[in-house]
Amino acid sequence: MAGQEQDKAYDPKGIEERWYAFWTERGFFHADPSRPGDAYSIVIPPPNVTGSLHMGHALNITLQDVLIRYHRMLGRNTLWLPGTDHAGIATQNVVERELAKEGISRQDLGREKFIARVWQWKEESGGVILKQLKRLGASCDWERERFTMDEGLSRAVREAFVRLYRKGLIYRGRYIINWCPRCRTALSDLEVSYEETRGALYHIRYPELSGRRSVVVATTRPETMLGDTAVAVNPGDKRYSGRVGATLRLPLANRPIPLISDEMVDRGFGTGAVKITPAHDPNDFEVARRHELPSVRVIDESGKMTDEAGAFAGMDRFACREAVVERLKAENLLVKEEPYLHNVGHCYRCHTVVEPSESIQWFVRTKPLAEPAIRAVKAGETRIVPAQWEKTYFE
Ligand SMILES: [Zn+2]
Repeated sequence: MAGQEQDKAYDPKGIEERWYAFWTERGFFHADPSRPGDAYSIVIPPPNVTGSLHMGHALNITLQDVLIRYHRMLGRNTLWLPGTDHAGIATQNVVERELAKEGISRQDLGREKFIARVWQWKEESGGVILKQLKRLGASCDWERERFTMDEGLSRAVREAFVRLYRKGLIYRGRYIINWCPRCRTALSDLEVSYEETRGALYHIRYPELSGRRSVVVATTRPETMLGDTAVAVNPGDKRYSGRVGATLRLPLANRPIPLISDEMVDRGFGTGAVKITPAHDPNDFEVARRHELPSVRVIDESGKMTDEAGAFAGMDRFACREAVVERLKAENLLVKEEPYLHNVGHCYRCHTVVEPSESIQWFVRTKPLAEPAIRAVKAGETRIVPAQWEKTYFE
């Protein structure tokens, strides 16, 4: 470089773009199975088309690129397969927020037009992501770029689903799940964010059907009482000795429900008696299974009260909460109402309060599927780096 003065500052623009074009034009990143050398491949964890790449992506893309380029230079036949993820409901929510800025909802638009808008978003967002990957210098095989909703991948998903179903590893069943009444979808435990919320604890009197005695239960969600099918106490709770088996009158609904005993009940909470709402509480769902109690669903998939809620049918669940409290006061069955700080689950996508609901869902039996995977790690066929994470994997 004698005689030629070097620029004081490094200008990535002139250099990186030129070299990236040079690499791709000559097909240096393209993998050819007929080439010699041991195979070394990474499938990119496909970025969601919900937005553009952030700093975290820049880090993990760089790490993958370092590995790929290192093994390529060692003479291995390397493939780094790029792609993007449709991310289903997450992308739908982003598009719905865009529509909201224009003052329209997906229902206004109708199914066909809404789907067209989602595809339009995918083209824009996905396009930005691919440009970003290229600007980062990622040495991906662009001739093999995929989208998780490509026909081939969708067929693979259907194939896997049907195979698992035929082997009895996928099944449908009634179960209590986290439900978002706005997204109208089930949420996994990881998709629920718990936030400390200022609410109220309502103490409600359930009279015995015959006699003058009653039981007081405490709840933060009085609207769910319309779906109660029992009241439970701990079998060791002296306060209720001799009373288990009595029949109570469920206020407002005026249905007879039994007083039962179950080890699950915490004697220290409130009066030691808890209402059992199998359709809207995971613990109560389990109690109902043990005692073969019926299940009454009072909140529907949009968060409105069902016909089972009687006079409250059709009301929004939160409006119903207030109405139920008013009625209990009028009937002199509200013993007390106290401020209560508790954790409430919210939908991580749209922040709506999650409603635990009994519903028919698909499940995967993970245990038999995990066994061979665990065996492979124990036998050293699969290696986890760093090794200390093996323990987490086995759990
Ligand atoms: Zn939601």
